[in-house]
Amino acid sequence: ATPTAITVGVGQGARGGVLFKNATALEATAGIDTVVFDKTGTLTAGRPAVTDLVAADGASQDRLLGLAARADQPSQHPLAAAIVAAARERGIEVTPPDRFDSIPGHGVSAVVDGRPVLVGNLRLMQREQVAVDGLVDRAAALAADGRTAMYVAEGGTALGVVAVADPVRESAATAIKALHAAGIRTVMLTGDQRGTAEAVARRLGIDTVIAEVLPEDKAGHVAALQRDGARVAMVGDGVNDAPALAGADIGIAIGAGTDVAVETADVVLIRDDPADVGYALSIARAVRRKIK
Ligand code: ADP
Ligand code: MG
Repeated sequence: ATPTAITVGVGQGARGGVLFKNATALEATAGIDTVVFDKTGTLTAGRPAVTDLVAADGASQDRLLGLAARADQPSQHPLAAAIVAAARERGIEVTPPDRFDSIPGHGVSAVVDGRPVLVGNLRLMQREQVAVDGLVDRAAALAADGRTAMYVAEGGTALGVVAVADPVRESAATAIKALHAAGIRTVMLTGDQRGTAEAVARRLGIDTVIAEVLPEDKAGHVAALQRDGARVAMVGDGVNDAPALAGADIGIAIGAGTDVAVETADVVLIRDDPADVGYALSIARAVRRKIK
């Protein structure tokens, strides 16, 4: 029989927007000592907007943004949505590319008006052997400011950098502080570039940053923390996060996350507020004290 304390805890959570899927989820939550956060859409609002256009010599900002937008037009990625929206705001018509390939963890490769166009991170440019020497310093400065810098190349030549900022959620810093007060170690796990991730982590006071992680490697990083003895709760919202949510001791889906994330998770935070991670923990710990 389920002890009354657990039933009460599950009910209390539900009223506060914290859904424990079952008694085991609540019990395991009480034992975690490390919380791993996905960055985009979890610690940040997940509504990125274009902030900077750095055109290489000879390119115009409109041409840079227009090509990036057309290449990224079919993409489902929030970064792509930001680029397309910024182009439309400037009155640029964003018609679909002739061809389109999404390269997870890197960016996109498309054909626009018969010419190959790449939009993505440094790893993508290196992989496709596009020289970006003149742009790397600018990109690093943007990253140091917490922005995501994406290179745009046409026909194998870099045209410039488009930077996007995704504002940090107001409650994220409070959430991290509360977890630290409860003796929890905090980790950020992200596909974004190291400079950007570290800038955001510093702003929030996060203990450890694991950056430039390919989508398929997220679960592996959670497993590595567990091998080191950590009892891990993973908090995420995206399709990419589902395997890591499943592999963690406790998977926590946040808010209006994807269906996959919500289905995979042990705990769902209805209110879309990272501070509710601390709330889930305090409920679970209170129940454990009552049971013992
Ligand atoms: P995250 O963990 O932040 O969701 P992803 O693995 O989705 O990261 O992406 C990693 C990086 O690859 C992004 O920061 C960006 O530089 C690049 N990237 C991915 N998709 C796109 C896209 N559609 N357009 C431009 N760049 C992209
Ligand atoms: Mg994400």
